[in-house]
Amino acid sequence: MKIIDVKTYLTGQAWPDREGVRNFLFVRIYTDEGITGIGEASSLPAIEAEIRNKGALIIGEDPFQIQKLWSKMYLQSHFMTGIASGGAISAIEMALWDIKGKALGQPIWNLLGGKMRDKVRAYTHANTPEQARAFVDQGYTGLKMGGIEQAVQRVKDMREEVGDDIDIMADLHGPPWMTTSDAISVGKAIEDYGLLFYEEPVAPENIEALSRIQNSVNIPLASGERLAYIYAARELIEREIVDIIQPDAGRFGGLSQMMKLAAMAEAHYIQMAPHDGSLGPVGEIASIHLCASIPNFLIWEHRTGDVPLRYEVMQPQPEVFDSHIIVPNLPGLGVDLIDEVMLANPGDFTPGGHATNNKHEYRFVYPQPRRANWLKGKIQ
Ligand SMILES: [Mg+2]
Repeated sequence: MKIIDVKTYLTGQAWPDREGVRNFLFVRIYTDEGITGIGEASSLPAIEAEIRNKGALIIGEDPFQIQKLWSKMYLQSHFMTGIASGGAISAIEMALWDIKGKALGQPIWNLLGGKMRDKVRAYTHANTPEQARAFVDQGYTGLKMGGIEQAVQRVKDMREEVGDDIDIMADLHGPPWMTTSDAISVGKAIEDYGLLFYEEPVAPENIEALSRIQNSVNIPLASGERLAYIYAARELIEREIVDIIQPDAGRFGGLSQMMKLAAMAEAHYIQMAPHDGSLGPVGEIASIHLCASIPNFLIWEHRTGDVPLRYEVMQPQPEVFDSHIIVPNLPGLGVDLIDEVMLANPGDFTPGGHATNNKHEYRFVYPQPRRANWLKGKIQ
């Protein structure tokens, strides 16, 4: 079998409640035997350009030789890391696994070493006690609140609303203005609420800051969604700075890289909870195959409340029952893109047009409120 074409598909839809477009960046690889594979990356213009760049390299190659093709694509970047390269390889490599699974009649989890579990535990996002209650009533047993604004009060309110049988997580989204000392103060203030993890309380590129927080706050520390390739995660793992590692299937560099990361983490008793806050439906399914296969899987981030296009562009959609997603048993990824839907909803990479959350977190940067007042709002 030979690869004859690698095509990108940018599809998108306007957010119903805010400015900008929610884009999804897919890839499809075509072979001379008629088998095709699909993949997805983080929807960034640089990643789309890199998919074209790297896709051209593998035309004429045998799609089964995934490690060899991975190395060829990685070498082409002159071994440069970063999410443009990592995202492109993620999407292409995902599609290669899809082709291999379809050709062999096996789901991807069976090519990754077999299935540890038939269903993958999922959590979703809730930022108010009302939202938390609604998701718990739907069966969710894990909920994550995002952002720093009134973080402590929201954790407290959510815990009171849902009780101790529900896992709560807090993600501060690592804002660049957050000092380590303040992240420790917030962490200490939520220590007694039994959180499953405390995610990126400071900008995660600052490994020493993460290390200080881990040494000061008694909540498992989580990070990793911004990383590309195992090399970027090495220090976090080796120094056991994180308790939970969170690679994103749309930019970490491929399922094989995520499997290697899982093994690195396993040797340090670190668990994996892949990131899906901004990923789309195909990447989500790829990650679920991985979550089914690894021993140190903790919990999966399931995005609810996305634009309607997300739930229409791929079939079948994962169904969540009692906070779990059933692992697909069909060959390959076990899903397909719906071309009519994809082509009827072109995405938008107009500069600035695809930005999301651009006013969400950075309101505190300019002007910075007086610190004592600001902290009071976080802690009390
Ligand atoms: Mg996060």
